[in-house]
Amino acid sequence: MKIVDIRPTTVTVPLIAPLRHANGCHWGRFVRTIVEVETDNGIIGLGEMGGGGESAEATFRAMKQYLVGRDPARLEEMRFLLCNPTGSLYNNRTQVLAALEFACLDILGQAWGVPVCDILGGRLRNRVPFASYLFFRYPNPKTGDGEVRTIDQAVACAKELAATHGFTTHKVKSGGFHPDYELEVYKAIAAEFPQHKLRYDPNAVMSVEQAIRFGQAIEGLNNDYLEDPTYGLHGMRRTRQMIRVPLATNTVVVGFEQLAANILDTAVDVILLDTTFWGGIRACVKAAGVCETFQIGVAVHSSGELGIQLATMLHLGAVIPNLSFAADAHYHHLADDIIEGGLMKYEGGSIAVPTAPGLGIKLNRDKVREYAELYKKLGPYPYDMDPGRPGWFPLIPNDRWADHTDATIPAIPFAD
Ligand SMILES: [Mg+2]
Repeated sequence: MKIVDIRPTTVTVPLIAPLRHANGCHWGRFVRTIVEVETDNGIIGLGEMGGGGESAEATFRAMKQYLVGRDPARLEEMRFLLCNPTGSLYNNRTQVLAALEFACLDILGQAWGVPVCDILGGRLRNRVPFASYLFFRYPNPKTGDGEVRTIDQAVACAKELAATHGFTTHKVKSGGFHPDYELEVYKAIAAEFPQHKLRYDPNAVMSVEQAIRFGQAIEGLNNDYLEDPTYGLHGMRRTRQMIRVPLATNTVVVGFEQLAANILDTAVDVILLDTTFWGGIRACVKAAGVCETFQIGVAVHSSGELGIQLATMLHLGAVIPNLSFAADAHYHHLADDIIEGGLMKYEGGSIAVPTAPGLGIKLNRDKVREYAELYKKLGPYPYDMDPGRPGWFPLIPNDRWADHTDATIPAIPFAD
Protein backbone atom coordinates (compact mmCIF):
# COMPACT_ATOMS: atom_id res chain seq x y z
CA MET A 1 0.00 0.00 0.00
CA LYS A 2 1.00 3.57 -0.63
CA ILE A 3 -0.41 6.85 0.66
CA VAL A 4 -1.84 8.88 -2.24
CA ASP A 5 -3.60 11.77 -0.50
CA ILE A 6 -4.08 13.58 2.83
CA ARG A 7 -7.29 15.61 3.16
CA PRO A 8 -7.91 17.81 6.22
CA THR A 9 -11.32 19.30 7.04
CA THR A 10 -11.89 21.69 9.93
CA VAL A 11 -15.16 21.23 11.80
CA THR A 12 -16.86 23.04 14.65
CA VAL A 13 -19.09 20.85 16.82
CA PRO A 14 -21.33 22.50 19.47
CA LEU A 15 -20.99 21.74 23.17
CA ILE A 16 -23.94 21.53 25.55
CA ALA A 17 -22.56 24.66 27.25
CA PRO A 18 -19.27 26.64 27.23
CA LEU A 19 -16.65 24.93 29.43
CA ARG A 20 -14.64 27.19 31.74
CA HIS A 21 -11.08 26.19 32.61
CA ALA A 22 -7.98 27.62 34.25
CA ASN A 23 -6.60 29.15 31.06
CA GLY A 24 -9.84 30.39 29.53
CA CYS A 25 -12.83 28.64 28.02
CA HIS A 26 -14.12 26.35 25.30
CA TRP A 27 -16.50 28.87 23.79
CA GLY A 28 -19.49 26.57 23.38
CA ARG A 29 -17.83 24.51 20.68
CA PHE A 30 -14.85 22.36 19.79
CA VAL A 31 -12.83 23.15 16.66
CA ARG A 32 -11.18 19.97 15.38
CA THR A 33 -9.33 19.13 12.19
CA ILE A 34 -10.47 15.82 10.68
CA VAL A 35 -7.74 14.13 8.62
CA GLU A 36 -8.46 11.58 5.91
CA VAL A 37 -5.44 9.62 4.63
CA GLU A 38 -6.16 7.69 1.41
CA THR A 39 -4.16 4.79 -0.03
CA ASP A 40 -3.66 3.54 -3.58
CA ASN A 41 -6.08 0.67 -2.95
CA GLY A 42 -8.85 3.07 -1.93
CA ILE A 43 -8.74 2.67 1.87
CA ILE A 44 -9.37 5.86 3.85
CA GLY A 45 -8.00 6.13 7.38
CA LEU A 46 -9.25 8.74 9.86
CA GLY A 47 -7.30 11.02 12.17
CA GLU A 48 -8.23 14.03 14.30
CA MET A 49 -6.42 16.93 15.92
CA GLY A 50 -7.43 19.81 18.17
CA GLY A 51 -5.33 22.91 18.36
CA GLY A 52 -6.62 25.39 20.90
CA GLY A 53 -9.68 26.40 18.87
CA GLU A 54 -7.83 26.80 15.56
CA SER A 55 -7.74 24.92 12.27
CA ALA A 56 -4.68 22.79 11.42
CA GLU A 57 -5.58 22.27 7.75
CA ALA A 58 -2.53 24.05 6.34
CA THR A 59 -0.17 21.92 8.43
CA PHE A 60 -1.72 18.67 7.22
CA ARG A 61 -1.63 19.79 3.59
CA ALA A 62 2.09 20.45 4.06
CA MET A 63 2.57 16.86 5.24
CA LYS A 64 1.66 15.50 1.79
CA GLN A 65 5.18 16.18 0.50
CA TYR A 66 6.55 13.93 3.27
CA LEU A 67 4.08 11.05 3.11
CA VAL A 68 2.58 10.64 -0.38
CA GLY A 69 4.10 7.51 -1.94
CA ARG A 70 5.05 5.99 1.42
CA ASP A 71 3.76 2.81 3.05
CA PRO A 72 1.26 3.54 5.89
CA ALA A 73 2.59 0.47 7.75
CA ARG A 74 5.98 2.14 8.28
CA LEU A 75 4.99 4.06 11.38
CA GLU A 76 8.50 4.30 12.82
CA GLU A 77 9.67 5.74 9.49
CA MET A 78 6.90 8.34 9.74
CA ARG A 79 8.00 9.23 13.28
CA PHE A 80 11.49 10.14 12.09
CA LEU A 81 10.25 11.81 8.92
CA LEU A 82 7.99 14.20 10.84
CA CYS A 83 9.33 14.24 14.40
CA ASN A 84 13.07 13.71 14.35
CA PRO A 85 13.89 14.91 17.88
CA THR A 86 16.37 17.57 16.74
CA GLY A 87 14.72 18.45 13.42
CA SER A 88 11.38 19.02 15.13
CA LEU A 89 12.86 21.70 17.37
CA TYR A 90 11.95 24.02 14.50
CA ASN A 91 8.37 22.86 14.04
CA ASN A 92 6.92 20.71 16.80
CA ARG A 93 4.71 18.21 15.04
CA THR A 94 3.94 15.80 17.86
CA GLN A 95 0.17 16.27 17.59
CA VAL A 96 0.35 16.21 13.78
CA LEU A 97 2.18 12.88 13.93
CA ALA A 98 -0.47 11.59 16.32
CA ALA A 99 -3.36 12.40 13.95
CA LEU A 100 -1.54 10.79 11.03
CA GLU A 101 -0.66 7.72 13.12
CA PHE A 102 -4.37 7.34 14.03
CA ALA A 103 -5.21 7.41 10.31
CA CYS A 104 -2.47 4.95 9.33
CA LEU A 105 -3.48 2.51 12.09
CA ASP A 106 -7.07 2.85 10.85
CA ILE A 107 -5.85 2.01 7.32
CA LEU A 108 -3.85 -1.01 8.53
CA GLY A 109 -6.74 -2.36 10.57
CA GLN A 110 -9.06 -2.09 7.58
CA ALA A 111 -6.49 -3.67 5.24
CA TRP A 112 -5.78 -6.55 7.64
CA GLY A 113 -9.40 -7.00 8.82
CA VAL A 114 -8.66 -6.40 12.52
CA PRO A 115 -9.49 -3.65 15.03
CA VAL A 116 -6.61 -1.32 15.96
CA CYS A 117 -6.38 -2.83 19.45
CA ASP A 118 -5.41 -6.15 17.83
CA ILE A 119 -2.44 -4.43 16.15
CA LEU A 120 -1.40 -3.02 19.54
CA GLY A 121 -1.29 -6.31 21.43
CA GLY A 122 -4.93 -7.29 21.65
CA ARG A 123 -7.70 -6.21 23.96
CA LEU A 124 -7.61 -6.96 27.67
CA ARG A 125 -11.03 -5.39 28.23
CA ASN A 126 -14.10 -4.82 26.08
CA ARG A 127 -15.19 -1.58 27.71
CA VAL A 128 -13.26 1.42 29.05
CA PRO A 129 -14.61 3.16 32.18
CA PHE A 130 -14.76 6.98 32.21
CA ALA A 131 -14.95 9.74 34.82
CA SER A 132 -17.71 12.36 34.81
CA TYR A 133 -15.37 15.30 34.06
CA LEU A 134 -17.26 18.13 35.79
CA PHE A 135 -16.59 21.61 34.46
CA PHE A 136 -17.74 25.00 35.58
CA ARG A 137 -19.80 26.26 32.64
CA TYR A 138 -21.28 29.45 31.28
CA PRO A 139 -24.93 29.09 30.24
CA ASN A 140 -25.61 27.88 26.71
CA PRO A 141 -25.75 31.13 24.66
CA LYS A 142 -28.89 30.00 22.82
CA THR A 143 -30.95 28.43 25.57
CA GLY A 144 -29.57 30.04 28.73
CA ASP A 145 -29.37 26.54 30.26
CA GLY A 146 -26.44 24.58 31.63
CA GLU A 147 -24.66 27.10 33.87
CA VAL A 148 -22.36 25.58 36.51
CA ARG A 149 -20.96 28.24 38.84
CA THR A 150 -22.50 27.72 42.29
CA ILE A 151 -21.97 24.71 44.55
CA ASP A 152 -25.60 23.65 44.09
CA GLN A 153 -25.24 23.83 40.30
CA ALA A 154 -22.03 21.75 40.43
CA VAL A 155 -23.66 19.04 42.55
CA ALA A 156 -26.78 19.02 40.35
CA CYS A 157 -24.66 18.67 37.20
CA ALA A 158 -22.70 15.79 38.75
CA LYS A 159 -25.95 14.04 39.73
CA GLU A 160 -27.38 14.50 36.25
CA LEU A 161 -24.24 13.14 34.53
CA ALA A 162 -24.04 10.20 36.93
CA ALA A 163 -27.72 9.39 36.38
CA THR A 164 -27.50 9.74 32.59
CA HIS A 165 -24.20 7.97 31.93
CA GLY A 166 -23.58 5.85 35.03
CA PHE A 167 -20.34 7.48 36.15
CA THR A 168 -18.92 6.36 39.49
CA THR A 169 -15.77 8.51 39.26
CA HIS A 170 -15.96 12.30 39.28
CA LYS A 171 -13.28 14.66 38.07
CA VAL A 172 -13.71 18.26 39.18
CA LYS A 173 -12.00 20.56 36.70
CA SER A 174 -11.23 24.23 36.92
CA GLY A 175 -8.52 26.29 38.52
CA GLY A 176 -10.46 29.39 37.47
CA PHE A 177 -11.88 30.25 40.88
CA HIS A 178 -10.01 30.68 44.15
CA PRO A 179 -8.78 27.30 45.48
CA ASP A 180 -10.73 27.76 48.73
CA TYR A 181 -13.99 27.97 46.74
CA GLU A 182 -13.11 25.03 44.54
CA LEU A 183 -12.26 23.03 47.69
CA GLU A 184 -15.82 23.67 48.91
CA VAL A 185 -17.17 22.43 45.57
CA TYR A 186 -14.97 19.32 45.70
CA LYS A 187 -16.08 18.48 49.23
CA ALA A 188 -19.74 18.95 48.25
CA ILE A 189 -19.32 16.48 45.35
CA ALA A 190 -17.58 14.04 47.72
CA ALA A 191 -20.44 14.34 50.23
CA GLU A 192 -23.03 13.71 47.49
CA PHE A 193 -21.29 10.53 46.27
CA PRO A 194 -19.66 8.89 49.32
CA GLN A 195 -19.19 5.60 47.42
CA HIS A 196 -17.69 7.16 44.29
CA LYS A 197 -14.08 7.98 43.40
CA LEU A 198 -12.89 11.58 43.01
CA ARG A 199 -10.16 13.59 41.38
CA TYR A 200 -9.48 17.33 41.13
CA ASP A 201 -7.57 19.09 38.36
CA PRO A 202 -6.86 22.85 38.54
CA ASN A 203 -4.45 22.77 35.56
CA ALA A 204 -1.38 23.57 37.66
CA VAL A 205 -2.44 27.07 38.71
CA MET A 206 -1.73 26.80 42.44
CA SER A 207 1.49 27.74 44.17
CA VAL A 208 3.28 24.84 45.84
CA GLU A 209 2.08 26.06 49.22
CA GLN A 210 -1.54 26.30 48.04
CA ALA A 211 -1.23 22.84 46.51
CA ILE A 212 0.00 21.43 49.83
CA ARG A 213 -2.84 23.17 51.67
CA PHE A 214 -5.42 21.84 49.21
CA GLY A 215 -3.92 18.34 49.18
CA GLN A 216 -3.90 18.10 52.95
CA ALA A 217 -7.51 19.33 53.07
CA ILE A 218 -8.75 16.48 50.86
CA GLU A 219 -6.85 13.68 52.63
CA GLY A 220 -9.41 11.16 53.83
CA LEU A 221 -11.73 11.65 50.84
CA ASN A 222 -12.07 8.89 48.26
CA ASN A 223 -9.42 10.41 45.97
CA ASP A 224 -8.02 8.67 42.93
CA TYR A 225 -5.39 11.39 42.84
CA LEU A 226 -4.80 15.13 42.80
CA GLU A 227 -4.04 16.15 39.21
CA ASP A 228 -1.51 18.88 38.41
CA PRO A 229 -2.16 21.02 41.50
CA THR A 230 0.98 23.03 40.75
CA TYR A 231 3.36 23.44 37.83
CA GLY A 232 6.70 21.73 37.27
CA LEU A 233 8.29 18.46 38.34
CA HIS A 234 10.01 20.14 41.27
CA GLY A 235 6.85 21.81 42.50
CA MET A 236 4.99 18.52 42.21
CA ARG A 237 7.78 16.72 44.09
CA ARG A 238 7.68 19.26 46.93
CA THR A 239 3.88 18.92 47.10
CA ARG A 240 4.10 15.13 47.06
CA GLN A 241 6.45 15.16 50.05
CA MET A 242 3.84 16.99 52.13
CA ILE A 243 0.52 15.30 51.29
CA ARG A 244 -0.97 11.81 51.48
CA VAL A 245 -2.80 11.86 48.16
CA PRO A 246 -1.26 10.46 44.93
CA LEU A 247 -0.37 13.09 42.32
CA ALA A 248 -1.17 12.78 38.62
CA THR A 249 -0.12 14.80 35.59
CA ASN A 250 -0.90 15.44 31.96
CA THR A 251 1.27 18.56 32.05
CA VAL A 252 4.81 17.90 33.25
CA VAL A 253 5.25 14.32 32.00
CA VAL A 254 4.14 14.38 28.36
CA GLY A 255 7.17 12.76 26.75
CA PHE A 256 9.81 10.11 27.33
CA GLU A 257 12.54 12.50 28.57
CA GLN A 258 10.20 13.75 31.29
CA LEU A 259 9.05 10.21 32.06
CA ALA A 260 12.66 9.16 32.60
CA ALA A 261 13.26 12.17 34.87
CA ASN A 262 10.17 11.30 36.88
CA ILE A 263 11.36 7.74 37.36
CA LEU A 264 14.87 8.78 38.43
CA ASP A 265 13.48 11.25 40.97
CA THR A 266 9.77 10.65 41.36
CA ALA A 267 7.48 13.66 41.50
CA VAL A 268 4.26 12.18 40.09
CA ASP A 269 2.48 8.91 40.89
CA VAL A 270 0.11 8.61 37.91
CA ILE A 271 0.85 9.52 34.28
CA LEU A 272 -2.17 10.54 32.23
CA LEU A 273 -1.50 9.29 28.71
CA ASP A 274 -2.94 11.40 25.89
CA THR A 275 -2.91 9.86 22.42
CA THR A 276 -2.41 13.34 20.95
CA PHE A 277 0.08 14.91 23.37
CA TRP A 278 2.37 11.84 23.26
CA GLY A 279 2.37 11.59 19.46
CA GLY A 280 0.06 8.65 18.90
CA ILE A 281 -1.52 5.56 20.42
CA ARG A 282 1.70 3.57 20.07
CA ALA A 283 3.74 6.11 22.03
CA CYS A 284 1.18 5.83 24.84
CA VAL A 285 1.44 2.03 24.79
CA LYS A 286 5.23 2.32 25.02
CA ALA A 287 4.96 4.80 27.91
CA ALA A 288 2.48 2.52 29.68
CA GLY A 289 5.07 -0.26 29.38
CA VAL A 290 7.73 1.90 31.03
CA CYS A 291 5.25 2.80 33.78
CA GLU A 292 4.37 -0.87 34.26
CA THR A 293 8.06 -1.71 34.71
CA PHE A 294 8.57 0.99 37.33
CA GLN A 295 5.08 0.59 38.87
CA ILE A 296 4.02 4.14 38.07
CA GLY A 297 0.24 4.43 37.62
CA VAL A 298 -1.38 5.31 34.28
CA ALA A 299 -4.74 6.59 33.10
CA VAL A 300 -6.09 7.94 29.81
CA HIS A 301 -6.16 11.72 29.38
CA SER A 302 -8.62 13.73 27.30
CA SER A 303 -7.57 16.83 25.40
CA GLY A 304 -11.05 17.29 23.91
CA GLU A 305 -12.22 14.82 21.31
CA LEU A 306 -14.76 13.89 18.71
CA GLY A 307 -15.49 10.26 17.92
CA ILE A 308 -12.28 9.60 15.99
CA GLN A 309 -10.00 10.55 18.84
CA LEU A 310 -12.33 8.90 21.33
CA ALA A 311 -11.84 5.67 19.37
CA THR A 312 -8.06 6.03 19.80
CA MET A 313 -8.58 6.42 23.57
CA LEU A 314 -10.78 3.31 23.64
CA HIS A 315 -8.25 1.19 21.74
CA LEU A 316 -5.49 2.45 24.06
CA GLY A 317 -7.59 1.72 27.15
CA ALA A 318 -8.33 -1.75 25.81
CA VAL A 319 -4.71 -2.87 25.54
CA ILE A 320 -2.80 -1.41 28.50
CA PRO A 321 -2.75 -3.88 31.41
CA ASN A 322 -1.98 -1.24 34.05
CA LEU A 323 -5.04 0.98 33.50
CA SER A 324 -6.09 1.23 37.14
CA PHE A 325 -8.27 4.34 36.87
CA ALA A 326 -11.30 5.51 34.89
CA ALA A 327 -10.33 7.43 31.74
CA ASP A 328 -11.15 11.09 31.15
CA ALA A 329 -13.28 12.33 28.26
CA HIS A 330 -14.83 15.66 27.34
CA TYR A 331 -17.08 13.59 25.07
CA HIS A 332 -20.32 13.81 27.08
CA HIS A 333 -20.15 17.62 26.86
CA LEU A 334 -20.63 17.41 23.07
CA ALA A 335 -24.04 18.05 21.56
CA ASP A 336 -23.28 15.91 18.48
CA ASP A 337 -20.56 13.97 16.66
CA ILE A 338 -19.33 13.56 13.08
CA ILE A 339 -19.30 9.74 13.04
CA GLU A 340 -21.93 7.33 11.77
CA GLY A 341 -24.46 6.51 14.46
CA GLY A 342 -23.95 9.82 16.28
CA LEU A 343 -22.42 10.09 19.74
CA MET A 344 -21.07 6.82 21.16
CA LYS A 345 -23.06 5.69 24.19
CA TYR A 346 -21.95 5.39 27.78
CA GLU A 347 -23.42 2.47 29.69
CA GLY A 348 -22.66 2.06 33.36
CA GLY A 349 -20.03 4.81 33.02
CA SER A 350 -18.11 2.96 30.29
CA ILE A 351 -17.96 2.88 26.49
CA ALA A 352 -17.52 -0.27 24.39
CA VAL A 353 -14.24 -0.65 22.51
CA PRO A 354 -15.07 -0.70 18.77
CA THR A 355 -14.86 -4.15 17.18
CA ALA A 356 -14.97 -3.30 13.46
CA PRO A 357 -11.66 -3.28 11.51
CA GLY A 358 -9.41 -0.25 12.03
CA LEU A 359 -10.52 2.37 14.53
CA GLY A 360 -14.01 0.99 14.00
CA ILE A 361 -15.75 4.27 13.21
CA LYS A 362 -16.85 5.90 9.94
CA LEU A 363 -17.50 9.52 9.05
CA ASN A 364 -21.05 10.75 8.69
CA ARG A 365 -20.31 12.96 5.69
CA ASP A 366 -23.50 15.01 6.10
CA LYS A 367 -22.39 15.90 9.62
CA VAL A 368 -18.87 16.70 8.44
CA ARG A 369 -20.31 19.08 5.81
CA GLU A 370 -22.67 20.65 8.35
CA TYR A 371 -19.95 21.27 10.91
CA ALA A 372 -17.37 22.37 8.34
CA GLU A 373 -19.91 25.05 7.34
CA LEU A 374 -20.30 25.98 11.01
CA TYR A 375 -16.53 26.42 11.30
CA LYS A 376 -16.58 28.72 8.27
CA LYS A 377 -19.39 30.72 9.85
CA LEU A 378 -18.01 31.05 13.39
CA GLY A 379 -14.26 30.80 12.73
CA PRO A 380 -11.69 29.86 15.37
CA TYR A 381 -11.99 30.66 19.07
CA PRO A 382 -9.20 31.48 21.53
CA TYR A 383 -9.03 28.51 23.90
CA ASP A 384 -6.82 30.52 26.26
CA MET A 385 -9.12 33.51 26.60
CA ASP A 386 -12.22 33.87 28.76
CA PRO A 387 -15.19 35.56 27.01
CA GLY A 388 -16.37 36.66 30.46
CA ARG A 389 -13.12 38.47 31.29
CA PRO A 390 -11.80 40.37 28.25
CA GLY A 391 -8.06 41.04 28.48
CA TRP A 392 -7.57 38.63 31.39
CA PHE A 393 -4.87 36.00 31.41
CA PRO A 394 -3.66 33.77 34.26
CA LEU A 395 -0.26 33.66 35.89
CA ILE A 396 1.43 30.46 37.07
CA PRO A 397 0.99 30.37 40.02
CA ASN A 398 -2.23 32.30 39.53
CA ASP A 399 -3.72 35.03 41.69
CA ARG A 400 -6.27 36.41 39.21
CA TRP A 401 -9.27 34.29 40.12
CA ALA A 402 -12.72 34.55 38.58
CA ASP A 403 -15.52 35.71 40.90
CA HIS A 404 -17.89 32.83 41.65
CA THR A 405 -20.60 35.30 42.71
CA ASP A 406 -20.55 37.02 39.29
CA ALA A 407 -23.52 35.69 37.30
CA THR A 408 -22.87 37.87 34.23
CA ILE A 409 -23.44 35.94 31.02
CA PRO A 410 -20.83 36.79 28.36
CA ALA A 411 -21.75 37.19 24.70
CA ILE A 412 -20.43 34.16 22.80
CA PRO A 413 -20.98 33.60 19.05
CA PHE A 414 -22.97 30.42 18.62
CA ALA A 415 -24.86 28.35 16.11
CA ASP A 416 -28.33 29.51 15.06
MG1 LIG B 1 -5.29 17.69 33.52
